[in-house]
Amino acid sequence: ATWKKIDVQNRSKDELYEMGKTFNAMIDHLKDNFEKQETFVSDASHELKTPISIVKSYAQLVKRRGTDNQQLVQESMEAIDSEADRMGKLVEQMLALAKNKHLAAKEQVHIVALLEETVTTFQTAYKREITFKKDVSDEVVLTGNRDQLEQVFYILIDNALKYSEDKVEIGIEMEHRQVLIQVRDYGSGISEAEQARIFDRFYRVDKARSRDTGGTGLGLSIAAAIVKEHQGEITVQSKVGEGATFVVTFPIV
Ligand code: ADP
Repeated sequence: ATWKKIDVQNRSKDELYEMGKTFNAMIDHLKDNFEKQETFVSDASHELKTPISIVKSYAQLVKRRGTDNQQLVQESMEAIDSEADRMGKLVEQMLALAKNKHLAAKEQVHIVALLEETVTTFQTAYKREITFKKDVSDEVVLTGNRDQLEQVFYILIDNALKYSEDKVEIGIEMEHRQVLIQVRDYGSGISEAEQARIFDRFYRVDKARSRDTGGTGLGLSIAAAIVKEHQGEITVQSKVGEGATFVVTFPIV
């Protein structure tokens, strides 16, 4: 939004009344944003406190009992290393969320090639069955930020692999004047109540399990923010025990 001062001189009563209404709406909007920021900062500090206290307690353990216990030192160092990774990931993702607010540079993106590349990266890195079904012309072009769009695909495919053990299916097709991307897995699935919350920042269905898988609860909120930024939509269809399908659509102009 652009902000400018309003000239209140020589206005009729009706006009002033309308301005008052606009002003109140703006205040509500600002208040809402401030509250969201506050929640974000308090959630973020909470999430960072856990790895910090783990690092601290291992460091103290090594200081106290590490001199003649090589195995303890080894285990502690591994834990410290992995917690440092976790903090790094959290900070990186929090920055991604903050950065997303400002319009990232938009370019013409060949969406099919981009998705195909991301799929290939995962196929190379994981020994898992990942299929790719393309039902759209390679020429489809989207106006958007390439890195951000790639991040959306990355988050969804990464989750599908993390929360299932079976194959993962990725598809791209046209529907009306929209390009539609699907990421389907056959894992644990997500209940209806949880579906409403998984796009919230820091929300994780199973905190312990998600921690083991390196989850931060920020992935889907980043994906949702980026998709919104691109005038698209992201939804999930799922039944517990039957896996989950994430669907992303972008308008083609
Ligand atoms: P995380 O870093 O924990 O994966 P996300 O924001 O990406 O955070 O996802 C939020 C939560 O939604 C996850 O912790 C998980 O419980 C659930 N979730 C996301 N994707 C899937 C999926 N494909 N299948 C089952 N649950 C999922």
